[in-house]
This record gives sequence, C-alpha cells and structure tokens, in this order.
Amino acid sequence: MWRKKTKSEIEFDKVENLKIRRKNYIEDCLYFSIKVLIILIIINLIMFLAYGIDAPIAPGAKYDPIPLYKIPNHLIELFELPLIGGILFFIIKIVEGKRNDYFKKSSIIMCDKCFNSKNYDKKMNCECGGYFSTLDNFEWIKED
Ligand SMILES: [Zn+2]
Repeated sequence: MWRKKTKSEIEFDKVENLKIRRKNYIEDCLYFSIKVLIILIIINLIMFLAYGIDAPIAPGAKYDPIPLYKIPNHLIELFELPLIGGILFFIIKIVEGKRNDYFKKSSIIMCDKCFNSKNYDKKMNCECGGYFSTLDNFEWIKED
C-alpha cells in the first residue's frame, strides 16, 4: 500500500535523490565522452595510416602515410586532438543536461488521501478532498 512520507523523510530523500541523479548524470556524460574519444582515435589512426599526420584537406598537406609499426612513435599526435574533442564533448554534454529535464521531477502526481495518481495538471485538489503531490513524496510498503 501507499504511504505518504513524513516531512523529514521527504527532505532526506530529496538530498539523496539529487546526489544519485548527479552521480548518474556525470557517469553518463563521462561514458559518452569516452565513446567519442575512442571513435576519434580510430578515425585519427585510419587517417594516419592512409594520409599521414597532416589532414588531407589542410593547405600544403604532405601525403605521407605512416606504416602501422611506426604508429607508436606518433602516440602524442594520435591522442592529442581526440582528447581535446572528448573533453569538449564532455563539457557540451554537461551544459546540455543542465538545460534538459535530467533534473526535473517525474510528471506523475498522487493524492495523499485516496492515492489516485494522474499526470501533472493544474488541478491539485482531489475529488476525495485530498491533495496531489509528486511521487517522490510517497513510498510503497509491502502488506504482510
Ligand atoms: Zn484523492
């Protein structure tokens, strides 16, 4: 059955939820940037093998493919740009997430008396005389 949490429980959960959300969010962003980083390194490696260090579109680019066994001599060039790209994407992701609804609450609200739930609308008073609030304020407990 549903139970409305006490004020202090709600406050405690709010802080805890935000901590968890923030942690998951940073992990998501990090995971995304690492994927970008790996893709950029692979692209860079293919370019090195096919064209050399200079991008083929750069003015005055020297066409000088690097054989695979010489790649270890060019690790700094190989990781430099992808690393900058990965960090840039991490920053973009963080800023983007702050704007979108990553930190918004669920849109489902529940009555504190009859425990009917509905999608959020402006009507916060229930027909039973109760009052709707967000799901974060309730807890499901097992009946034995
Ligand atoms: Zn109600």
